[in-house]
Amino acid sequence: FPARIPAVVGRELRVPLVTGGRVGYANLDHAASAPCLDAVQDAVNELLPWYASVHRGAGFASQVCTRVYEGARARLRAFVGARETDSVIFTRNTTDSLNLLARALLRKTSVVVFDTEHHAALLPWGGPRVRRIEAPESPAAAVRALDAALAECPEGPRLAVITGASNVTGELWPVAELARVARSRGARTVLDAAQLAPHRPVRIADLGVDYVAVSGHKLYAPFGAGALVGRADWLNAADPYLAGGGATRAVQESSVGWNLGPERHEAGSPNTVGVHALATACAELAANWKAVGDHEEVLLRRLRAGLSRIPGLRELSLFGAEHDRVGVVSFTVDGQDPGLLAAALAAEHGIGVRDGLFCAHLAVRRLLHEAGSDSGRAVRVSVGLGSTVEHVDRFVSALHALVTEGPRWRYEQTDGRWLP
Ligand code: PMP
Repeated sequence: FPARIPAVVGRELRVPLVTGGRVGYANLDHAASAPCLDAVQDAVNELLPWYASVHRGAGFASQVCTRVYEGARARLRAFVGARETDSVIFTRNTTDSLNLLARALLRKTSVVVFDTEHHAALLPWGGPRVRRIEAPESPAAAVRALDAALAECPEGPRLAVITGASNVTGELWPVAELARVARSRGARTVLDAAQLAPHRPVRIADLGVDYVAVSGHKLYAPFGAGALVGRADWLNAADPYLAGGGATRAVQESSVGWNLGPERHEAGSPNTVGVHALATACAELAANWKAVGDHEEVLLRRLRAGLSRIPGLRELSLFGAEHDRVGVVSFTVDGQDPGLLAAALAAEHGIGVRDGLFCAHLAVRRLLHEAGSDSGRAVRVSVGLGSTVEHVDRFVSALHALVTEGPRWRYEQTDGRWLP
């Protein structure tokens, strides 16, 4: 992290662990938002002087930006291994992508969703034809439960909502098997790949899913750009997600002709810099999957070995501790307030983790119950390309000290947050 805090923030924040003029900050909250890659920062800086409106301008800068914007679409298509006929629609993030799809469902579409989903995947689907499946005990049970739920759906279009990796436990879901049973029941699938895509290749056609949603800020790009990729037919038949310029072919006094294709849902001046950053991050990841996997495996193994030595620690798990996962671990420690642990890790040790219910209230409450914890919330630690062995080791020894000796500073609770 750069040594200087942005001037606009002011001086009231207490800077943790300033060593040699640098903030020794360990960001172990990659699952919330991952730091920007150098290549992404360079790409953004290169584009900023050319910043102009896409599609509509005749000027040279507009031509540059139009190429960049449509080039980003092609790179997203390649990143998720989309079929030729799939649409790539740029959105703000995964939440936006899933809400867009929810608005594009055909009339009377039945939706089946696991109750362990992140709220972004759990909540956009309204109406009586939504069926929630209780959290399964194993990947095989998930496949059976989806099969049974789809078999009970009324006649008509069907959509199964599935997640690649849990944002609470990092555990991988059996995406290809879920997509296969959905297909055999005549259902389409949408994959919430917000947590999976930064860690493992996601290939739509290979997995056999129909739609994929991703967020740039979890893929080592800045905020504000995401994508929905998938079957064009429902999307072309739907009303535009946003009404406005760019989505129209021709507007008459009493009628509007809407575009087909991604433009239909992308009204307004688009986030060219954001999608360029997103596409650059995707290209970087795609060129380095082996290194990404090796790095994360080392960190995750070290992290979990360290956590296993903390007295009273209970790790949350959907499918069992041995199940394959990306670099995300949530836990509680007996007798410890998760919010206080997170606050002391930040203030005294310069370590960023998250505490709470992680926008997956149903999932976390259930997992806490199953783990025998009464703490009401959990701590989540997540690693990625911005994490180092030193970060993990510092976190484990800081947590050990906090649990065995208590915080060194005094904290007070204000509006539910602990402050030193
Ligand atoms: N799904 C999962 C699994 C997530 O982890 C998140 C972000 N925490 C989202 C969806 C929503 O992503 P965003 O906030 O970028 O819309």
